[in-house]
Amino acid sequence: MPELPDLTVVAEELERRVTGRTITEASAPTPILVRATPAELAELSGDTIGVPSRRGKFLLMPFLRDGVPHRLLAANPMLAGRFWIVPPSERVRARTGLRLRLDGPEELRYVDREMLGKLYLVAPGALDDIPGWTEMGPDADDPDLTLDAFRQRIRRHPGELKPLLRNSRFVAGIGNAYSDEILWEARLAPFRRRSTLADDDIERLYHAVRSVLGDAVERIRVSVPPAIENQDRSFLKVHLRGGEACPRCGRELRQIGGREATTFCRTCQPPF
Ligand SMILES: [Zn+2]
Repeated sequence: MPELPDLTVVAEELERRVTGRTITEASAPTPILVRATPAELAELSGDTIGVPSRRGKFLLMPFLRDGVPHRLLAANPMLAGRFWIVPPSERVRARTGLRLRLDGPEELRYVDREMLGKLYLVAPGALDDIPGWTEMGPDADDPDLTLDAFRQRIRRHPGELKPLLRNSRFVAGIGNAYSDEILWEARLAPFRRRSTLADDDIERLYHAVRSVLGDAVERIRVSVPPAIENQDRSFLKVHLRGGEACPRCGRELRQIGGREATTFCRTCQPPF
């Protein structure tokens, strides 16, 4: 599942490759993935792609008409949605939710083999119409999310730490993989409850959020572009490495759950 570091780099690469291009034709080969009518898609012809950005687990792409915001694409890729920049001659894959033909040598496609993601096409300023948008907390890498602000927010969110980190109402952009990495970095067990944290635990958690996500962005910037359809998780220290040695203490990492697995170290991340 693309999380904050993955989508940050995708947005950067899209800016390099498609910003400034004009859309010559927009279509939805698999229409169910796109919350837009064929007429709304047809209206994108002639629009220019603006500078993409990321908010939480959404990739945002503005479309400009005569330099003025006209529409905004908000993509929530969920488990398996990916953007592809390909030559127009490339075969259109099954489960292609959006195809933007451009006035250049490449075109932009969104493919989602699990069909769990959603693409929303909204008017500028209408992001609040997207389900869950208004409830979203600050981005986990938001410069305004200071340690003090983090402390304030975490008081309002009870429960176990792993679901807490993944809850976009608390902070946005963290999913299953990076929550494991952050908790291991902070030496906090995923099942610990927020109410058991001392002040210095919260401080360690805050700094782990920042350092793990920041380091991941730097790694991914080097390893993924130009092939933004790929995801690099090879550098993760614990997530899905159950049975391997903890990189800190050497104890065998424990992993529970299936597809949404949680991996942790029972020595570095004691239960209380
Ligand atoms: Zn360990």
